[in-house]
Amino acid sequence: MNLQYISLLISASILGILFFMKTKKNNFGIRVLTAMIFGVAVGIILKNNALIIEPLGTIYVNLIKMLVIPLVMASLISSITTLDNTEKLKRISFKSLGFLIATTVLATGIGLIVGKVMNLGSGMQFVKDAAFKAKEVPKFSSVIVDMFPINPISDMANAKMIPVIIFSILVAVAINVEGTKQPEAVKPVKDFISSFSKIMFSLTRMIIELTPYGVYGLMVPVAAKYGVASLLPLGKFILAMYIGCLIHIALVHGSLIALIAKVNPIKFFTKISEALVVAFTTRSSYGTLPITIRVLTEKVKVSDRIASFTASLGASIGMNGGGGVYPTLVAIFVARLFNIELTFAHYILLFVTAAISSIGIAGVPGAATISATVVLSSLGLPVEGLAMILGIDVVVDMIRTMTNVTGAAVASILVASTENELDVDAFNKSDVKNELTVA
Ligand code: ASP
Repeated sequence: MNLQYISLLISASILGILFFMKTKKNNFGIRVLTAMIFGVAVGIILKNNALIIEPLGTIYVNLIKMLVIPLVMASLISSITTLDNTEKLKRISFKSLGFLIATTVLATGIGLIVGKVMNLGSGMQFVKDAAFKAKEVPKFSSVIVDMFPINPISDMANAKMIPVIIFSILVAVAINVEGTKQPEAVKPVKDFISSFSKIMFSLTRMIIELTPYGVYGLMVPVAAKYGVASLLPLGKFILAMYIGCLIHIALVHGSLIALIAKVNPIKFFTKISEALVVAFTTRSSYGTLPITIRVLTEKVKVSDRIASFTASLGASIGMNGGGGVYPTLVAIFVARLFNIELTFAHYILLFVTAAISSIGIAGVPGAATISATVVLSSLGLPVEGLAMILGIDVVVDMIRTMTNVTGAAVASILVASTENELDVDAFNKSDVKNELTVA
């Protein structure tokens, strides 16, 4: 029998096992972990023959992406219309941007330390890649102009998060303004949107149920395409990224949660673990957004409005991994590769450009290549050095996206706690064992 059919049979049996585990009421986290392990094993052993299962992962990601625009719009509009205080809305906006960008600046610092300590790029030879074409860096002015909505339908269709958020806020503010004059006139729209948002949350829950199968379908192709041998030459860079991101999460995120939100960081990370797994495997903060919002509201007990607002912004602003740790490590790697000594002025510029270029990155796979290009060119480093690490980008993107999503979730809990929109008692009450199961 053809190897592809055998691999299909094996995959079908694994999916069967995952389903059986569900019927036996096995913990959600355990099922996802099992799917990951099986996915990596099947990918490594069966290589390209296992790719027949790839569409399963693609369908899963598409299903979550399907939710993003309707969910974010409905939950933002319905939650802001419960807020009749525009001062508060302004405060929430400033705080969200502040926390998202500040944590990215801290991530740049962590990247700098890890990159320097590990002496990234030393002992490596630059190998020119003739096929490499540097990504075109958008002008800063056009990044700003692009943040504002033009045609809401085209913004929705093109998944442009920031214009969609701004449009939703404007609609919600208009509902509030009109509502103070003629409450009856806006009531049907308010009721419809609030009910629609509940339905979208319910749909999110149904799709999250598919996570173990989706994760299996996503892990197989990654493991099949990136054998250990292909990762080895750049092992040090990959290691630096994983170490940098994990230190950032443990140290920076952990202490901000303990100091500002005054809750147990381990409990927090356990509560958002579903979103982290989905981020790691899908490599898209945008695609993970419905799950991020759901874990924030249902498990972390952040209010709907902060969860939908701050987490959505965090899917394209800040990006601790893709806008902070990654471009910094790339800069250190490339500088060393070309024997360019980085000066104090370079470091200052690094912090500033990393913060600025982290605004408006799309939360899609590979997007951080743009922030890395911006940082390299503004530091005057050869952009073609980036080509050396593009071959392993998928593996690096996984931890980057997980860090981006953690950053967005951390910003949300920080804004919520400083705005009295975090239910600390409910956060503490729910027991950790249940956190790993689908609500
Ligand atoms: N894939 C990342 C995300 O969606 C962006 C990046 O770091 O490339 O958050």
